[in-house]
Amino acid sequence: MSRKVLVIGEVREGSLRNVSFEAIAAAKTVAEGGEVVGVLIGDAVSALGQELIQNGADRVVVVEDAGLKQYTSDGYAQALLAVIDAESPEGIIMGHTALGKDLAPKLAGKLSSGLISDATAVEEAGGNIVFTRPIYSGKAFEKKIVTEGIIFATVRPNNITPLGKDESKTGDVSSLTVAIKDLRTVIKEVVRKASEGVDLSEAKVVIAGGRGVKSEEGFEPLKELANVLGGAVGASRGACDAEYCDYSLQIGQTGKVVTPDLYIACGISGAIQHLAGMSNSKVIVAINKDPEANIFKVADYGIVGDLFEVVPLLTEEFKKLKVLS
Ligand code: FAD
Repeated sequence: MSRKVLVIGEVREGSLRNVSFEAIAAAKTVAEGGEVVGVLIGDAVSALGQELIQNGADRVVVVEDAGLKQYTSDGYAQALLAVIDAESPEGIIMGHTALGKDLAPKLAGKLSSGLISDATAVEEAGGNIVFTRPIYSGKAFEKKIVTEGIIFATVRPNNITPLGKDESKTGDVSSLTVAIKDLRTVIKEVVRKASEGVDLSEAKVVIAGGRGVKSEEGFEPLKELANVLGGAVGASRGACDAEYCDYSLQIGQTGKVVTPDLYIACGISGAIQHLAGMSNSKVIVAINKDPEANIFKVADYGIVGDLFEVVPLLTEEFKKLKVLS
């Protein structure tokens, strides 16, 4: 059964986030040969329409309004509901990001639809669209189908392979005028936490430090390794609580969920709440002085040793490999 599926293109600092392209790939599966319609919401975002098309959307609808310059669930919900009203989609896919986690439940409530959140895979099986999502803090996976109404899902960043960019692809980018009104929240200014380099939740490589780094300066060797590998630095709550780093770096049940290709845990014991945020990473390397540390149970490669010796050695080795390649 072919369907029309809307995909929300998520824009941050003027660029589309990768998860938008992953959502398009998920939407293609849900559409089963039907139409994938990208949706861009913001102040001046229409220029990004062709990029969504080059990454697999068939066409794009843009809602632009000064009231949409900053994300508010009120404003975006008004815009998206207007697009849904105009397009009557059978599916809606967005990223399971801070935006998606806030907006999707609100919309599902307004539409009286179900919502499959945090999907890590989607496939067609036995005549159904089947979503896989982690449960019990990533200890198990469940498979879900939608039995009636709109197929509405959020997809976890870094899990679904994007279709790839085809720069020759063109398509229609149209705009829909929506009068955004009665906003209950107005964002006057966004003050970003100083964060260097790669976005943690989308990083392909994460170097995470725990209480074992012992101080703010203890993160320096981790930052160096992250720089060499083009990755991002993360942390356990232990490290955040000890004020070695900012809470924006926290990974886990009450922090960010990451699924990079490579996760290097340095001086992290592997508490269940930490594992909830990283155990689905593709390759996990643990560096810990304690051979009994729980983190080794989820690690693909374990190094029993002092992180202050091991991390600089790894950095040097990776530097050599980079020179050779
Ligand atoms: P520790 O448990 O103290 O481990 C430090 C590790 O470093 C040890 O294993 C030690 O052997 C090793 N080490 C020390 N020195 C070195 C060295 N020089 N070289 C190598 N290894 C060394 N935690 C999270 O991370 N994320 C969450 O989202 C989260 N949410 C929580 C929610 C709730 C409701 C609760 C109750 C707890 C939560 N926690 C969370 C906290 C969690 O239970 C742990 O306390 C925390 O993860 C421990 O952090 P840690 O592994 O850095 O510290």
